[in-house]
Amino acid sequence: MADRYDPSIGADAARAFFSRSRKTEIAHGYLLVGPSGTGKKSFARYLAQSLLCEGNGDRAFGACGTCRSCALFGHEGQSTHPDFIEHVGALKIGETAGAGFATTGDTTSRDLIRQLAMQSYSGGRRVLLLADVEFASPAAANALLKFFEEPPGGVTLLLTSSTPAAILGTIRSRLTQLRVGPLSRDEMLRLLERRGFAREAAEHVLSRARGSLTRALELLDSDAEAPHATIARWFDDAVAGNTPAVSWATRESLDEGLLAIKARLKDAIAASYLGERPGRRIDLERGLKAFEKIDDAQRLARTNVSPTMVADLVRMAITGIAVPGAERP
Ligand SMILES: [Zn+2]
Repeated sequence: MADRYDPSIGADAARAFFSRSRKTEIAHGYLLVGPSGTGKKSFARYLAQSLLCEGNGDRAFGACGTCRSCALFGHEGQSTHPDFIEHVGALKIGETAGAGFATTGDTTSRDLIRQLAMQSYSGGRRVLLLADVEFASPAAANALLKFFEEPPGGVTLLLTSSTPAAILGTIRSRLTQLRVGPLSRDEMLRLLERRGFAREAAEHVLSRARGSLTRALELLDSDAEAPHATIARWFDDAVAGNTPAVSWATRESLDEGLLAIKARLKDAIAASYLGERPGRRIDLERGLKAFEKIDDAQRLARTNVSPTMVADLVRMAITGIAVPGAERP
């Protein structure tokens, strides 16, 4: 999902720095460093939009969102602004002198030199975003060095990197370095919830994601690949009366998930009845009542009620169906 950049997320220090700056004070180059997946590119795009904005006066940070220039920025990563050039993904600047930079996806050094030297279309500033710039070749590094030796007026270079040590010291020393991320716990939760993940599922991956949104999304993906393992864990937690550490309920998974829970409940009741259940013994009467409540939840799932609410109803139905103190070895 392509959100609009939320300037309140992840980049406190960099935001504070640019909020104090005027457009006329902006340097030729900035290097945004931080772990991957913490919003360096998003921040750089929003900074570019702010610098090119025609409705924010001399403020370097904070775009009006409505002027002619802002309208060309569209959604994240989909700018059509002629004075903003963005290299998407890892920058692989090769030595070959290709005809155009759009043909292979790789930028040549010649492209870079040309882009650094071009005049602004609007007669104002130009902003170049080079992301993950550690891949720069010696020829590209030379192009960048030439740029810094005699920087053309009105060109601002934004570089992002998660491994700034890999950038030539001669380039790094000419850039103002600012840190972005890692994201705080609250920021991660807010971003994940906005992308439609249940809070429980988001909390479950937080510590492993270590402040990187990209890593959190990968972890949530891999969790989602094993729905039955997730449901099994959720079921055991709920029966034990614990708040489940994982969540399985999304609009897509709801029907299948409820069927899977019913199947587990049926197995648990049968095993308890036959004295086979090695774990918790299920109270038959409460187990059967829970079964009816899951039937209700299935009906509810066909309406517009949120998946999280349906899952909560099921959780309440199966919490307490175990015979108290009947834990077997
Ligand atoms: Zn604007």
